[in-house]
Amino acid sequence: MYPSQFEYHAPTSVAEAVEILGRYDGEARVLAGGQSLIPLLKLRFTTLRAVVDINRIPGLDTLAVEDGALRIGALVRHRDCERSPLLKEARWRVLGQAAPQIADPVVRNLGTVCGSVAHADPQGDWGSVMLAAGAEVVTASAAGGRTIPIADFFQGPFTTALEPGEMVTEIRLPDPGGRASGAYLKLERKVGDFATAGVAVHLAMSDGSVATAGIALTGVGARNIKATAAESAIAGREPTPDAIAEAARLAAEAADPQDDLRGTAEYKRNVVRVFCQRGLQAAAAAAAA
Ligand code: FAD
Repeated sequence: MYPSQFEYHAPTSVAEAVEILGRYDGEARVLAGGQSLIPLLKLRFTTLRAVVDINRIPGLDTLAVEDGALRIGALVRHRDCERSPLLKEARWRVLGQAAPQIADPVVRNLGTVCGSVAHADPQGDWGSVMLAAGAEVVTASAAGGRTIPIADFFQGPFTTALEPGEMVTEIRLPDPGGRASGAYLKLERKVGDFATAGVAVHLAMSDGSVATAGIALTGVGARNIKATAAESAIAGREPTPDAIAEAARLAAEAADPQDDLRGTAEYKRNVVRVFCQRGLQAAAAAAAA
């Protein structure tokens, strides 16, 4: 199918992009990698008055640690993360592990991290990574910019805290420092598929104990889920088998999966428990190494 007619804009600055977005009273959308928006338009699940293609805006492809935070600009592709030596460092391991598990090489070449988070698919992998790592979403609009804590960003399936006319310019993650690491575990039916279930873990260690823990779940609820009870259960404790098993049990309890073609709810909940256990063990070991 062809999309219904829309106006196409290709601004060359963020200021120009938000000025155009502001003209359409919520009936214009940003086009980043197009890997989710184009199918939606072609299938006519979405009709828009205008598309604002941000790919010609310079300076949105930053992937670097600056001023104590990892900055991921709005045009950083999944592929950039997959190939980044920075994200192979232990402290950013949750990102480095998630990137190659997203979709297939064609989608990874074009799709963006910020686009994925803005799209807010409950089966999106980056959403859980960002929840676990305590990210902030930085936005711009004609009215000015703001910073949204990721815990407040996802409001439901494909629904976020973004206002009409607002775009994401970057995502920032606090640098957890030396003794930190993470893991991303994903079960998919075949390579390139969305998650049957996924678990993101991000730990900072201090004197052999877990100083802070981030745990989040993919594909087992109406949005990416921050498993706060599991995080609290492991924080402040040594990552012993018992402490890890208790956190994993609580993570499974936080999941809210449905029976579907990918498996039963009970099966998915058990996958979450096992993945959380493995992720915590791996992250604690990598942080201590
Ligand atoms: P676009 O398609 O350009 O936009 C998506 C939505 O986000 C639109 O509403 C758009 O307006 C909005 N948006 C984009 N950028 C911004 C911005 N800067 N500010 C405000 N709004 C913005 N994802 C996974 O996580 N895991 C998978 O396994 C996976 N498998 C896939 C398999 C296939 C075959 C395909 C086609 C997609 C798959 N995806 C998967 C989705 C993929 O990761 C997309 O790249 C991602 O969801 C959207 O990123 P994008 O840059 O392509 O955004």
